[in-house]
Amino acid sequence: MSQVFVALGSNLGVSDNFVSNALSKIEQLPTTSGLRTSRWYRSQAIGGPADQPDYLNAVCAFETRLEPEALLQALQRIEAEAGRTREVRWGPRTLDLDIIWVEGFYSDTATLTVPHPRAHERAFVLQPLVDLNADFQLQGKSITEWLTSVSDQNIQVI
Ligand code: AMP
Repeated sequence: MSQVFVALGSNLGVSDNFVSNALSKIEQLPTTSGLRTSRWYRSQAIGGPADQPDYLNAVCAFETRLEPEALLQALQRIEAEAGRTREVRWGPRTLDLDIIWVEGFYSDTATLTVPHPRAHERAFVLQPLVDLNADFQLQGKSITEWLTSVSDQNIQVI
């Protein structure tokens, strides 16, 4: 069993539904248990087209025996079921699921980069991670320290 953190985001359509449906689907993945979810946040979009709607963000933690590549495929299926299309890079999306960290696993390919290369720069990932494990570290530094360096990013608990 490996512990995993997955970030969820949505800024198109009925975001609450997309996020809560995704969480129940993640909970039902084979060989997966112990799902915990951070508080939910509202954040302003970073990058991509201007004037995007705000995002709904959360991070979940769980244990799984799925290999990271199989987990990524399962998450991409859940995105597709939420009507996710990939037209504009960093454009609005119904559901975005990113693998942030997998216990004891490192990968640096375009298909799968873990730990997620931008997690430590994003308040909408760091703050929910603090909810789940305030002692957690990314890139050798505590997430609470990383958070202070992105205090200009506006996120609010819903
Ligand atoms: P996005 O459009 O932001 O959801 O990016 C999706 C692409 O990023 C897919 O082609 C994935 O294979 C790739 N990717 C690389 N690393 C990760 C990761 N840690 N979690 C999710 N997708 C990833």
